[in-house]
This record gives sequence, structure tokens and C-alpha cells, in this order.
Amino acid sequence: MKKKSRREFLKTTAGLIAGTTVASVVNVEASEKNYTKDDAYSMLYDATLCVGCKACVSACKKTNGLPPVKGDFDKDGLWDAPKDLDSKTRTIIKLYKENEDNWSYVKQQCMHCAKPSCVSACPVKAMKQDENGVTFYNPDVCIGCRYCQVACPFNIPKFEWEKTFPKIVKCDMCKFTSLKSKGEPACTEVCPAKAVIFGKRKELLAIAKRRIKENPDNYINHIYGEHEAGGTNVIYLAAAQFEKLGFPKLDNESPATFTENIQHTVYKGFVAPVALYATLFFVAVKNREKREKDNERGDN
Ligand code: SF4
Ligand code: SF4
Ligand code: SF4
Repeated sequence: MKKKSRREFLKTTAGLIAGTTVASVVNVEASEKNYTKDDAYSMLYDATLCVGCKACVSACKKTNGLPPVKGDFDKDGLWDAPKDLDSKTRTIIKLYKENEDNWSYVKQQCMHCAKPSCVSACPVKAMKQDENGVTFYNPDVCIGCRYCQVACPFNIPKFEWEKTFPKIVKCDMCKFTSLKSKGEPACTEVCPAKAVIFGKRKELLAIAKRRIKENPDNYINHIYGEHEAGGTNVIYLAAAQFEKLGFPKLDNESPATFTENIQHTVYKGFVAPVALYATLFFVAVKNREKREKDNERGDN
């Protein structure tokens, strides 16, 4: 039911796009830039250290007031068993397993992009980035359009379909909870293996590079998020290729540049907002298609 109405929405939007020549007159070419800040709040997740205990998932829920998700196997509802990020789950630990020798845990959460496309796509500034590089959400002004969802190249923001007045759910680095009260996100605080740590981006990048240099056989020579999508403030180390762990293969340019180019080039007061947002939606759908293709390639 929900899927059907979303498809109808896509169709309607595609019709709107066809009715304008907006996309064709916009130059969406952009040069690669570095948007990262050395002192941005960051997290480093090292998949080779993670023991899969999911203490981070529990701490995230407890700290941020998110309810458990009942698993199919759990008749009594005694376990919190989310399978994926959802409207009650801001972070998740997944297992990638190729065979008995090649497997890895991987933590999923908002990447806190240096130049976030969710912020760029949001028409009412409900998605924002603060001075420390944290992307956060203001539910009071959100109109539920979900442009942030489709604009995100990592498929992170989730929607509370089950609620009468649904809002977006995603990691905000515990900006209003643990980061505020303890100076550190809940997930990094509780991790017993220090597989996920918190710090300034420059320092965490230096740690990541040092680990690769000192143990080259333990890691692939790639820090995911150092450059992808214009750089992210959550960065990753792993022993397996990141595409296999479910990460999209992305250009070094932020997808946000495209949406911003369109906003700045087209919206000079001459284009009806509906056409503008249809165009933004078109760009966002393109991002999603690219991500799905990359994921399919990663599955093969
Ligand atoms: S990962 Fe997605 S939700 Fe998070 S900051 Fe980047 S674009 Fe926004
Ligand atoms: S930083 Fe906070 S909100 Fe984000 S995944 Fe960790 S505990 Fe959850
Ligand atoms: S708490 Fe640390 S070791 Fe446990 S699952 Fe989370 S990241 Fe991995």
C-alpha cells in the first residue's frame, strides 16, 4: 500500500519534470572540492576490531529513547532485533560473510557527510549541519516530503510510516543527548573493543592511516569516507572491500553540489517551486539509482 503510493508519487513527479525543461538547462557539472574540516566531530569504525556485541546499538536506543524492534523469531517480544536501520534504529551492526575465513562485521549509521545532500535537498531547513560538522534534524519544521531520504547516497534517513504525524529518524551523533551531557556519543562510549571511537577528523584520519601502515596485512589500503561524497565525518577501516560490506562506490564530489547548483541557478524567482522541487527530486532519484546499481554490483 505504502509502496504503491510512493510509486504514484514518483510517477507524478516524473510528469512534472517532463513538463519543464529545467533539468536540461542546468549545468550540473561540478569540480571536485574538499569540504572536510580537520576539527569536525568524527567517528572511526574499525571493522577488524568489532566483536559484533551490538552494545553500540543498545546504547544508541537507550540514550536516544528509541523502542525495540520485535524479531520474527521472538513471540514474546523480549529481544531488540532490528535487521536494518529503521524508524526505531539509528545504527545497526551487520555481518558480511563470504565463507568461514572471510567475514566482517560492519556498523551502519549516518556518515555525517562534510557536505550533506540531505541538508541541501531539504526545502525547509529541517536537516541542518552544525559548526562541528554534525548533521541533525529539526522535527518541528519538517513537512514530511522525504527529499532528504532520496537525496542521501547512503540510504540513511528513515521515515516513521507507522505514526500519524511521521518524522525522519537518523543518527545525529547524540547531539542533544550523550554528546551534550558527556562530550561523546553513546555508541563510542560503550564499545568494549574500541572498534568505534570519537574525535576530531584530522586525528582519527591519522590513527586510521597509522593502523594501515603498521598492519598492512590486516586492512585493505582504503579509508572509506576520506574522499567519498566529498568526504564524510564518519570514516571506516576494514579488511574486506567496502562494496562487499554494503557501501556504495561514490565519486569524490558531494551529490549536494548538484542540488545546490540547481537551486542557485534556477531559483531566481522565475521558476515555480513545484518545478524546482520536481527537479531536486529528479536529481535525488538519480542518486538513488546509482546507489542501487552499485549495490547490485557489490552483491555479484
Ligand atoms: S549520510 Fe545521508 S543522512 Fe547522513 S549526512 Fe550524509 S546525506 Fe545526510
Ligand atoms: S552517534 Fe549517537 S545517535 Fe549516532 S549511532 Fe552512535 S549512539 Fe546512535
Ligand atoms: S559495541 Fe563496539 S564491538 Fe560491540 S558491536 Fe558495537 S562497534 Fe562492535
